[in-house]
Amino acid sequence: MSGNGRTVYIAGAGIAGMTLALALAKFGATVVVLERRERVQEVGAGLQLSPNARKILNRLGLDRALAARSFEPEGIDIYPYGFDRPLVTLELGKAVEQTFGAPYAVMHRADLANVLYKACKRFANIDILFGVRSYDVVSHARGVSVTVDEADGKSRAARAFAFIGADGVNSLTRTGVLMGPEAVYSGSVAWRVTLEEAALAGVVAADRTSLLWAPGFHAVTYPLPFRKQVNIALFAKAKADKAFGEDPPRAPDLPWAMKKSQQFAAILAAAGDSWGYWPLSTVTTEVWTEGGVGLVGDAAHAMMPFQAQGAVMAIEDAAILAPLLMTEADAESALGRYASLRRPRVERVRKLSDFNGFAFHLEWPFTLGRNAVVKLQGPRGHLRRLSWLYGYDAAPDPAGVPPVPRRPRQDVH
Ligand SMILES: Cc1cc2nc3c(=O)[nH]c(=O)nc-3n(C[C@H](O)[C@H](O)[C@H](O)COP(=O)(O)OP(=O)(O)OC[C@H]3O[C@@H](n4cnc5c(N)ncnc54)[C@H](O)[C@@H]3O)c2cc1C
Repeated sequence: MSGNGRTVYIAGAGIAGMTLALALAKFGATVVVLERRERVQEVGAGLQLSPNARKILNRLGLDRALAARSFEPEGIDIYPYGFDRPLVTLELGKAVEQTFGAPYAVMHRADLANVLYKACKRFANIDILFGVRSYDVVSHARGVSVTVDEADGKSRAARAFAFIGADGVNSLTRTGVLMGPEAVYSGSVAWRVTLEEAALAGVVAADRTSLLWAPGFHAVTYPLPFRKQVNIALFAKAKADKAFGEDPPRAPDLPWAMKKSQQFAAILAAAGDSWGYWPLSTVTTEVWTEGGVGLVGDAAHAMMPFQAQGAVMAIEDAAILAPLLMTEADAESALGRYASLRRPRVERVRKLSDFNGFAFHLEWPFTLGRNAVVKLQGPRGHLRRLSWLYGYDAAPDPAGVPPVPRRPRQDVH
């Protein structure tokens, strides 16, 4: 089978699914994406995109569209609990771009979804089916057989080279097709809200990210100037019966936090009851692939968001998997190589995220040691410490990429 003759089905038009679709389409594959929602994601909150993801997205031709909708914070102000001024400001901005060759940006996830979707629409060889009711996949020696119940009630049956589950933390491809495990509740929830730009004026810097540490909880804020908003995510522990109960709380219940931290007090006062509430679940599974079926993104390895790398890892997955699917003799070996390349890195990032959760939430007197180390590392210490993460290049330019049929519209903006 020639590279251009390959058809790949993907479940899920999220960040993983659409990035993979674009990467495959660039190599000339025919891609069909099955999305349960009626349209591309329109809601959500902010997302941080580190340079290791941005390099990949830039190579997919998205640099200008992303630059127009995202913001590059100058740095990260670290506020340990009770500090009125930052302990240290970790440099981002130019320091990151000079060190790693791509920016560190923040944006609204719906804006990223739209950039990806508009780029997908430019490819005649990507078909996104919205409102898909169900799908089934059978793997066999010469590929996979896929059946899909579409939005209009019609059923489609097709043969394909591979089927990739990019269907998120509660992936049906993982649990229903590969018979892998369910996601596990982490014991923590994320509270998210976007407020008007001025809501935290004078409390945190308008041109930087702020990371607020506290015993047992923490928060991240950053500006979203494209939407004239500020994004706030607050992470706290919650027992499973509360997190998944029928009547979840409407705002974080942290009354004493307001007494000792002017930043938390201002955030809780400004957000009121307008928070959204996400129980955080993780996925750890040996089952990433079987035959011509594989998993990418949260479906394979949902992790805690404390290093802001879940979507970034999904983007890296896509960049690694696409060329393998187009060059290996069969999907099983492509997916096997992909899994062995990705597992060690994803597990390292997961451990780092878990460690961050531990360090961010420390109580006195352990905070003293943590704060001393962070201060000692200085404003650029994180760039050295995280060079293995941010300096990674998952998508070296492919040589001899065949020309791809495109729809007439050219402008992604
Ligand atoms: C509070 C919070 C903050 C975060 N911040 C960051 C950050 O700053 N940076 C970062 O990199 N990551 C961050 N993450 C993690 C990031 O959001 C996820 O890792 C990322 O969205 C995973 O992308 P995905 O495409 O794998 O899954 P998803 O985004 O969940 O997409 C899955 C898609 O599959 C579709 N789908 C599901 N089931 C089916 C089905 N049966 N059939 C068809 N379609 C289906 C869904 O509708 C959806 O469109 C954060 C997470 C949280 C909770």
